[in-house]
Amino acid sequence: MKHAHGLTQKILIAMVLAIILGTCAQWLQGVTPWLDTIINDWLVGGLFLILGKVFVATLKLLVVPLVLVSLVCGAASLGSGKQLGRLGGKTISLYLITTAIAISLAMLMAMLFEPGVGANLTSQSTVNIQQASSFAQVIIDIFPSNPIAAMADGKMLQIIVFALLLGMAINHSGDVGQRIRNQFEDWNVVILNLVTMLMHFAPFGVFALLFTLFARQGLGAIAELSVYFFTVVLVLVMQMLLIYPALLVGLSRLNPVIFMNKMRSTQLFGFSTSSSNATLPVTMRTAEERLGVDNRVASFCLPLGATLNMDGTAIMQGVATVFIAQAYGIDLSAMDFLTVIATATLASIGTAGVPGVGLVMLSMVLTQVGLPVEGIALIIGVDRLLDMMRTSVNVTGDTTVACIVAKSEKQLDETVFNDPDAGLVGDDMDSGLIGKK
Ligand code: ASP
Repeated sequence: MKHAHGLTQKILIAMVLAIILGTCAQWLQGVTPWLDTIINDWLVGGLFLILGKVFVATLKLLVVPLVLVSLVCGAASLGSGKQLGRLGGKTISLYLITTAIAISLAMLMAMLFEPGVGANLTSQSTVNIQQASSFAQVIIDIFPSNPIAAMADGKMLQIIVFALLLGMAINHSGDVGQRIRNQFEDWNVVILNLVTMLMHFAPFGVFALLFTLFARQGLGAIAELSVYFFTVVLVLVMQMLLIYPALLVGLSRLNPVIFMNKMRSTQLFGFSTSSSNATLPVTMRTAEERLGVDNRVASFCLPLGATLNMDGTAIMQGVATVFIAQAYGIDLSAMDFLTVIATATLASIGTAGVPGVGLVMLSMVLTQVGLPVEGIALIIGVDRLLDMMRTSVNVTGDTTVACIVAKSEKQLDETVFNDPDAGLVGDDMDSGLIGKK
């Protein structure tokens, strides 16, 4: 056994410490002016602000190069357009199914626990929700007119389309294509190693992000919205511990305990950054190096999943819709339920996995079923905390689908999947690096 789960353990310790110390810092606000200066100006607005921002930036800086290089490699080694079509068909169907399950479960539980009955409508704060784009625009926006602009703006679906086309052309270019492909493959190894190197900074980054959040926000908001909050948490836990394991066993005969153990650090990254996009480099590394998903599947499924598949977000939307309907005393018909399921499933297509985007999607859903969008103000107080948890579920859902698709395409190395030490990032800077001679 290598010097083992070093990094995951350190991140976990950093997270717990940050939550405890951050909450204490919130309680200490206003005790004495000098303590306020230390907490607010030096720590929350100084040191930890810098550390947290730098941490998220270092993750984000990897996303575009990694998706481009990795997907070009994947597409260049896919045999035919037919294979890509099959991969795409399976991936997108599974994403839609898992999201539909998530939101149905969420609405069912919300009907059971009735979080919105008797909610205090007067405690609204004003809310300014960005408008979601129309469905036609969403489809048009998938196709880039300028790949460099798409990369500069981090438009994931456009980058995916460009990388797929480039990869396919490389595949059809004989010797010339082979030379370019070798270059991309070398770049892929280098960038994955950069992910591994930067992951060592994670415990500090996670501490800084969570301390800042808890020192600013505290846990007070949960008390007022406890039934809503815990209904969402319960369904998130059910999705994570019942639905995904059932799919892994039922569709692929894969051991869910091994899967969940290996997913822990990725989930922690999702939790602390609240962004499936920023977590993507770690998700891709985990899928390929720790779980044995071939690059051809991982490079396609996971960037797509970070944008298309947000099961945790769908859960929040399901519970929130029922909550808002109950709070305003509006009855939802069976047709409304189906509309919510369809809209929430499709709404995620045009929205990237970044912090807080779930609320934009929720405004789309509420409009579809004629509920007041201002209702979002009722739940916004606990949304930041729920965002962290649902992002962990989102990245787990993406990786579950990647493993199932890989297994069905015979692109899953089960020796790697079952090896507890495969691709571990330990304490030693070199461990987990690939391609070294
Ligand atoms: N933060 C989530 C994600 O990146 C999206 C959301 O629910 O707001 O996956």
